[in-house]
Amino acid sequence: MAHPTDDIVSAMQSPSAEDREVIRRAYDFAEVAHGSELRKSGEPYIVHPHAIALYLAEIGMDQDTIVAGILHDTTEDTDTSPEEIEKQFGPTVRFLVDSVTKLSKLKYRGLERHVESLRQLLVATASDIRVIIIKMADRLHNMRTIRYVTPREKRERIARETMEIYVPIAERLGMGNIKAELEDLAFAVLEPKRYEELTRLIEERKKDFSHRIDGDIKDLKKALAENGMRTFRTEYRVKGVHSFARKALKKYDNDIANVYDLFALRVVLKTTEDCYRALGIIHGLWRPIPGKVKDYIAFPKPNGYRSIHTTVITRRGVTIELQIRTGVMHRDAQYGVASHFNYKQERKRGGGSTIEWIQNLLPSLKKTASEDGTSAPQWLKDLSKAEQEHPEYSTFKDILNKDFFAERIFAFTPRGDVIDLPQDATPIDFAYCIHSDLGDTMTGAKVNGKLVAYETKLRNGDVVEIITKEGAKPNKKWLDVAKTVGAKTHIRSALRKRDGLQ
Ligand code: MN
Repeated sequence: MAHPTDDIVSAMQSPSAEDREVIRRAYDFAEVAHGSELRKSGEPYIVHPHAIALYLAEIGMDQDTIVAGILHDTTEDTDTSPEEIEKQFGPTVRFLVDSVTKLSKLKYRGLERHVESLRQLLVATASDIRVIIIKMADRLHNMRTIRYVTPREKRERIARETMEIYVPIAERLGMGNIKAELEDLAFAVLEPKRYEELTRLIEERKKDFSHRIDGDIKDLKKALAENGMRTFRTEYRVKGVHSFARKALKKYDNDIANVYDLFALRVVLKTTEDCYRALGIIHGLWRPIPGKVKDYIAFPKPNGYRSIHTTVITRRGVTIELQIRTGVMHRDAQYGVASHFNYKQERKRGGGSTIEWIQNLLPSLKKTASEDGTSAPQWLKDLSKAEQEHPEYSTFKDILNKDFFAERIFAFTPRGDVIDLPQDATPIDFAYCIHSDLGDTMTGAKVNGKLVAYETKLRNGDVVEIITKEGAKPNKKWLDVAKTVGAKTHIRSALRKRDGLQ
């Protein structure tokens, strides 16, 4: 018999009979719980959890996540108790619903709340990545239906929160699709006139562009096919309205007429090898613009993004960026951390960095429990102490701005392990990133075989060797040299120990 959840189940990758049964049960449960409650749009409330569950199924999430998506508003908006959810759907679903509910209670009020919300989101994310994925899906549907929200001030508050909190996190988690959509939805609320003006301009350009690029795409397909690469597809994508606006502002003095890289041509191939071969074929076909080749396959972005980028001028005179990637990389670029969720698949691929880096950012998260039920990890306690003692260093904002969202560089140990650091990081940061003992006993550093000063800024690809001496101690000056919050925290604690303060 047909059921409203049929679309959700068929969107799953390989749904079992049990998936179908549990998802139906969750939906019926939520429908009863929400009763006659309506959305601002006038529709029955269940439309909202349904949309979220469908999205979660589409991006490949598991049964527990989908069920938690269906139930995510029941404990907050209805009489349903967390115990009841656990009884019916198990402890994992209860945990996910509880965590999402806790996040919903945070109301956004200016910068301080902003930082606090981010902090809590990250803590929740580190304890189970599925929490933030459900929260993202929730926010996406709320933004898609934001036109029904009144008054305007409330719409703007939600849009601003989306722009300042959810967009950067989606970006950092590599969730390219959701990031682009959230960003444009929020932009349309915050700057409606500019949004409309840009949308019109993009439409005009698109007409002109598709007209000119079609012949070039044929040339490209032919060249690839002649080289035996038959399993590929090409698609072009239009930059989001907001990212277009940002680029215009940053590079062209806000003169949108000058922004020509509105379009990118994606070439999706079977294997990594094919990608490099295709790059060679493309550069043989069209003239590449020097300095524009970026190999994010050999050096993925910190959010896990992989692709080769190159900008070329085609035979018909179109300047266009090409993004060359495999099917798996393409999926990752769209869904980011969510596409890594499938652990079985993950193990096959041997990846997992996206989740790993969150764990690295929040090292002692899992070891501590806390006052209010949310985990209050040791690093947070250390931080708040450090914030009080040294307001000039180590605020949570530093972590976010310097370590979390900043551009990253990748340096190597002499054994070839990759160390992922924020830009401007020094050998001191490198040492502490590997181990606090290594940092504490450091007496010098070699970069690419040459002795360097501690202040040296590391560059992508540097091989860094740390020289140590047993019993050596950090110097107070290091605090000014280190860039990462992690290094500063360790140095400060080593100094306190040295001075007998601890
Ligand atoms: Mn909701």
